[in-house]
Amino acid sequence: MGVDVGVDVDVLVVGAGAAGLALGVDLARRGVRALVVERDGRLFPGSRGKGIQPRTMEVFDDLGVGDAVRAAGGPYPAGMIWRDGERLREQAMWDPAEVEEGSPYREPWMVPQWRTQEILFARLEELGGRVAFGRELVGIAQDGEGVTAEFADGEPVRARYAVAADGGRSTVRRTAGGPRCGGCSGSG
Ligand SMILES: Cc1cc2nc3c(=O)[nH]c(=O)nc-3n(C[C@H](O)[C@H](O)[C@H](O)COP(=O)(O)OP(=O)(O)OC[C@H]3O[C@@H](n4cnc5c(N)ncnc54)[C@H](O)[C@@H]3O)c2cc1C
Repeated sequence: MGVDVGVDVDVLVVGAGAAGLALGVDLARRGVRALVVERDGRLFPGSRGKGIQPRTMEVFDDLGVGDAVRAAGGPYPAGMIWRDGERLREQAMWDPAEVEEGSPYREPWMVPQWRTQEILFARLEELGGRVAFGRELVGIAQDGEGVTAEFADGEPVRARYAVAADGGRSTVRRTAGGPRCGGCSGSG
């Protein structure tokens, strides 16, 4: 019989970026006991990912944030072609896709990443989910019952499952021996 090591939460999500927050929303709406931990003291204030793809908009609708994301953004502006300091013409950045049953969106929607993350965070809190800020995961150990996560500061967390949503240079993947990020530059 296994030793009852106890758990603080069922799922520990490491990283409150777009992926961690979206997963947190999904777990919270399903009633899963989850905790999202974020090393920074606040949500990412910048905007790398600002072009939300049609498929992501469908996922946002499903998570209950589609209306808020639509209200926070707009369609991409046309690009401008220049030559020798002269404006030649405007050019759309892509050809809109056909709307089909099950594919309601034709083109990406432009929203700053910090705003998308604020919307996901608000939805997470609305559903009773939590983000613990200022908690940097520094190590994780697995056993037959779950995982024990160690932090730079504060108590360890015991969970049945841990999810690496901590970006391209993931500490979770590195310390748990998982695959590194194939598409990322640097040491990820
Ligand atoms: C220049 C640029 C432009 C881009 N443009 C687009 C775009 O137009 N559209 C699009 O969809 N995507 C775009 N992307 C990609 C997009 O930004 C990423 O795919 C997205 O941010 C990934 O989200 P994530 O939640 O997986 O990781 P991240 O956004 O990296 O979030 C990871 C989180 O984990 C936290 N964290 C890291 N380590 C730890 C730790 N040890 N303990 C606790 N927390 C930790 C970090 O602080 C961070 O908050 C762009 C990226 C770049 C660089």
